[in-house]
Amino acid sequence: MFVNVIAIDGPAASGKSTVASLLAERLHIPYINTGNMYRAITWKTLHCGIDLKKSGTAELNTMLDHTELFYQENSKGEFVLVIDGAALGDEIRTAEIAGLVSTVAAMPVVRAWLLERQRRMAELGLIVMEGRDIGTVVFPDAEYKFFITASPTIRAQRRLQQSGETFDGATLKSVARDIAERDRIDSTRKIAPLRQAEDAHLIDTTELTIEQVVELVVSELKM
Ligand code: C5P
Repeated sequence: MFVNVIAIDGPAASGKSTVASLLAERLHIPYINTGNMYRAITWKTLHCGIDLKKSGTAELNTMLDHTELFYQENSKGEFVLVIDGAALGDEIRTAEIAGLVSTVAAMPVVRAWLLERQRRMAELGLIVMEGRDIGTVVFPDAEYKFFITASPTIRAQRRLQQSGETFDGATLKSVARDIAERDRIDSTRKIAPLRQAEDAHLIDTTELTIEQVVELVVSELKM
């Protein structure tokens, strides 16, 4: 039996978050960004001063035992990520977090802890959930699955354009390198690596606008 989930996976900066949030808005259903959940756990390890290279998993386990993380609906009907009672914002989108998150996300204890919480969200009814392993591991029986990708240079360009700053070729190259490194770690880890589910629709957005991608996704939904 299908699970009431629209699963959207894909590599870093492929535009999947924008597509997922526009889709959820259009369908009036919750949008759950699981990358932010991994970022939130990474943020807390830094906040608690846990050195992952030195401390192994004991300290991390204790930290997780004392962590509350969930998506909560606010007065505007948006689902906001809350950790230990506080809403999280831009503090999880720093370069420091981006540089560390893939290492944290490769740790089995972290994945098991988040998997349980992500699966519980299916209780909300139809949802859009976006990440790296939603269609393969979190909800292998999701009713709809999409894998959204784009060429590495286009992804780096979009990431830089989003920041609003002007940039040169060297900056573009360096951002493309960081994105490629995150993809490398995400797709080669032992547990739940980034990959396209066999039954997912592949959408290459390199030559498409966001609106065109949303239309493509909507055209696949039978509702
Ligand atoms: O989506 P975003 O780029 O914010 O995700 C940050 C990181 O979280 C990814 O690079 C990946 O390491 C991890 N992640 C994951 N599984 C998911 C979502 C994100 O491992 N379902």
